[in-house]
Amino acid sequence: MKRKLGLVYGGKSAEHEVSLSTARAVTHAIDYRKYEVIPVYITYDGEWRKGEALAGPAETIEQLRLTRDESKPDSIQDFLNNNGTPDIILPLLHGTNGEDGTVQGFFEVMNIPYVGNGVLASSAGMDKVVMKQLFAHVGLKQVPYVHFIRTQWQKDRQLLIDKMEQELSFPMFVKPANLGSSVGISKAVDHDSLVKAVDFALKFDRKIIVEQGITAREVEVSVLGNDEPSCSVLGEIKPVAAFYDYEAKYQDGSTELLIPAPVTDGVEKTLKEMAIRAFKVLDCAGLVRADFFVTEQNEVLINEVNTMPGFTPTSMFPLLWQHSGLSYPELINRLIELAIERHEEKK
Ligand code: ATP
Ligand code: MG
Ligand code: MG
Ligand code: MG
Repeated sequence: MKRKLGLVYGGKSAEHEVSLSTARAVTHAIDYRKYEVIPVYITYDGEWRKGEALAGPAETIEQLRLTRDESKPDSIQDFLNNNGTPDIILPLLHGTNGEDGTVQGFFEVMNIPYVGNGVLASSAGMDKVVMKQLFAHVGLKQVPYVHFIRTQWQKDRQLLIDKMEQELSFPMFVKPANLGSSVGISKAVDHDSLVKAVDFALKFDRKIIVEQGITAREVEVSVLGNDEPSCSVLGEIKPVAAFYDYEAKYQDGSTELLIPAPVTDGVEKTLKEMAIRAFKVLDCAGLVRADFFVTEQNEVLINEVNTMPGFTPTSMFPLLWQHSGLSYPELINRLIELAIERHEEKK
């Protein structure tokens, strides 16, 4: 009997299109002797559409943009319909309602094993403020930051600006607390651009984090496993843009990746040890990509972890595993095994 593998992609997030590309790539990597792939497309409006089982790889992304079958109940009801409920879920969702624990909670309630991080790790990892507070708790070095919510900004803007200018120096990185792919992030170089950057970030989230900008190399590591996770080789990002922004990530291909990253043995050891500590403090499962800054003095600071990192074959997470001896199809297989392992353990 083939297992029904539900590929869930799309979603109500800014990373919808990225998710579709990932889904297409994943359909090319699935072992169709073992699995029957059920596409589950979440539209921009958050409607769930379950398609017929795929017999093989999707030729195009458009094929995965399932249209509504008017004869079927819409959204989650259709997904819940027993006839065809997946045995295991591979959520390829980023950002809001995808990477933040909400959909993971839904799968928990459904009692379906799913790939990747659980509710706690996903939600804590999505919120950059909570994440940083947990990192600080286990002594992980990071850049100084200030955080606040929209209401505070509306009431005490000057107070907050004073605080930022006192505790941090320009340039600063202004970010919505709950996002990814650099969406809503800007670099502020003076008072005016700071105010603009905050107003811009507030379009995406009610919670804002303003970080000390740092001049450093960006080095990332992929972590795979459950209770005893392991690290891939390291990769360095060389953005050509002002920083590693959305365009650089997905559109213009201007970013150079160095794999393995040319760092000293000492930096590599420290960075991997920090990645595992970050994985454990968030109680991660399955995978994370941990992002670091490495300064000229070889000081290693953690920037963040991504609980559902970019996952196209040219994304850093799978590339790093490929360079560590695990191909894209093998990686997907391993993630599915880890999901089943974790599900069994919970029983
Ligand atoms: P993703 O999840 O896709 O990695 P994100 O939206 O979570 O991205 P960050 O990784 O926090 O965002 O930041 C995006 C990029 O902005 C970084 O890769 C880096 O180039 C730059 N950046 C972020 N914070 C800082 C900082 N404090 N100092 C210098 N550069 C920064
Ligand atoms: Mg991120
Ligand atoms: Mg992200
Ligand atoms: Mg990042």
